[in-house]
Amino acid sequence: MRLYVAVVLLAAVHSKGNGDQVLRIHAESEAHIQILKDLERNVDSGLDFWTHAVSIERPVDIRVPHASLYAVKNFLKENNIPFSVMINNVQELLVREREEMVRNAETERKTKSFNFAAYHDLETIYKFMDTLANQSKLITKVKLGSTYENRPMYVLKFSTGGVKRSAIWIDAGIHAREWISHATAVWLADRIATDFKENRAPVPGILSQMDIYLMIVANPDGYVFTHNSFSVLHRFWSKSRSLTSISKCPGVDLNRNWDAVFGGPGASDDPCAENYRGPFAQSEIEVKNIADFILKHGNFKSFVTLHSYMQLLMYPYGYIDIDVPDWPELHDVATQANKALNSWCGTVYKVGSIFHTIEQASGTSVDWAYLRGIKYSFAFELRDTGEYGFLLPADQIVSTARETWFALRYILKYVCDHPYLNNKLSSV
Ligand SMILES: [Zn+2]
Repeated sequence: MRLYVAVVLLAAVHSKGNGDQVLRIHAESEAHIQILKDLERNVDSGLDFWTHAVSIERPVDIRVPHASLYAVKNFLKENNIPFSVMINNVQELLVREREEMVRNAETERKTKSFNFAAYHDLETIYKFMDTLANQSKLITKVKLGSTYENRPMYVLKFSTGGVKRSAIWIDAGIHAREWISHATAVWLADRIATDFKENRAPVPGILSQMDIYLMIVANPDGYVFTHNSFSVLHRFWSKSRSLTSISKCPGVDLNRNWDAVFGGPGASDDPCAENYRGPFAQSEIEVKNIADFILKHGNFKSFVTLHSYMQLLMYPYGYIDIDVPDWPELHDVATQANKALNSWCGTVYKVGSIFHTIEQASGTSVDWAYLRGIKYSFAFELRDTGEYGFLLPADQIVSTARETWFALRYILKYVCDHPYLNNKLSSV
């Protein structure tokens, strides 16, 4: 086995991205899981794990550089691990995605319009936020701070007045390559504004009692990097862009960097790993800015974060295999929200704790929020379940956003109807 891994490593290093494939691997035993885990631990391999080896119930999707395809497929065959080709030519999809974006940007420029069924770069999203805020007294654009590369971090505040009212936090894009999360958040911002303007329930009722804070791009540096070119190196960047102790491996997984059992299982201490947790809790300015904002505000009642992909609606914990004290209620809210989501066009999600649905993960934002007494903490993994993975076609943005809204508005209404005192947060 060692020989094969060595071949994989050597070949991958020389890959330029053309002809990469995403393989879907179906582990059938604990031994298979172990082999795949060992493979992922080889961070120099150039293999990009889109999902991870956790249990035989969940497929493992790996983007394999063209030069390593032969070796990896042979390696899997030798070990009797079944697999199929999920994406036959990654580069082809990247080019198509980029061409669509360029075409759309041209149309938007000519018609002075904004197309919700398209992916946009950071600059365009920030302009969209300005336009939205300028159109309505309901919305203000609040600057939380700046990123490592000195870009502003903005959150949209939807408020009908009052000081430090109870509030709901929603963010997207903490993992840069999960573009459907940013695009969904853009659509949600517009939808909340429109529903308020048109007096469509439940938004006006919710906003008469609570504020909503929506952060569309939680990792601006990473997001800009994913747009720099359509090479695989850029488009599939997930982490922040800060320097680490290993200069060739910049970036920290911002969803392992929170002060929530930081450094526990399910986060790596290797700067070259995709889930590198960083040198210490909240070492990343992006995480610190958000955490400080929420603590200073002191009155958040719900924390929702949007990721992709796998179609999951999750609640804490991620770090440990035990149920949260509020498990019956959180499970029930998530189940009802999932039913609402499913009612739109039948999309099937799975509900559960992060630990039980994806994998063990420490230092995550949802655990952080929950451990600070923000009871209604949820994470979404949006579409799809693996046809396109991180390359979800833009023509699925609006339907993804719409079904997410069905779930989200159930959660927002529930939170609004179930006030509670959070002693932990207000005592910080
Ligand atoms: Zn993610």
